[in-house]
Amino acid sequence: MPHILIVEDEAAIADTLVFALQGEGFGTTWLSLGAAALEHQKNTPADLIILDVGLPDISGFETCKNLRRFSDVPVIFLTARDAEIDRVVGLEIGADDYVVKPFSPREVAARVRAILKRVAPRPSPDLGAGLFHVDTERVQINYRGKPLNLTRHEFRLLNCLLEQPERVFSREQLLDALGVASDAGYERSIDSHIKSVRAKLRLVRAEAEPIQTHRGLGYSYSPGHS
Ligand code: CA
Repeated sequence: MPHILIVEDEAAIADTLVFALQGEGFGTTWLSLGAAALEHQKNTPADLIILDVGLPDISGFETCKNLRRFSDVPVIFLTARDAEIDRVVGLEIGADDYVVKPFSPREVAARVRAILKRVAPRPSPDLGAGLFHVDTERVQINYRGKPLNLTRHEFRLLNCLLEQPERVFSREQLLDALGVASDAGYERSIDSHIKSVRAKLRLVRAEAEPIQTHRGLGYSYSPGHS
């Protein structure tokens, strides 16, 4: 069941959306602040976000810009004024659609369905003979059918290794994949991320050792040891 995050400070509007979306079988979460929405999306990613432009803390535009630094989740803006619409339509914000207030909640639910249908077929490369499944939208990797509880850095690290089986990545290259500037202190942090990822893989399969250490060189993903 797709989960929709509604970010809207007017309770009456949020209520009608919650009602319409739940009526269509969607799960919903309602938040009234942009900052809270960003935090929420980092921890428990929704499948789509309905985002009011006029929020009490940071604007919906600002919220969306911040969101785009770590997520490609589809966003539908709720706009109240013509000036807002112009900016949304300008597409500089990274929205997928917008709805002008006052709106019909059923119309919004229909847009949600349409967008989710559009983004749904997201074929993931068959990594390691299907042992790993990477869902970049949810920032989630499944190993042998079980979700790994990875941090964002661990996700990027493992994803990078999985994309090129048997390739040996240096610590510096892996830092690049994390989007972290390389220096001596950070290179050692790769080792601790790897250690943590390995521990999480072993929670699924005790003898799993798909990440190989290459002394003096770095790490690789080896499907044969999965
Ligand atoms: Ca508002």
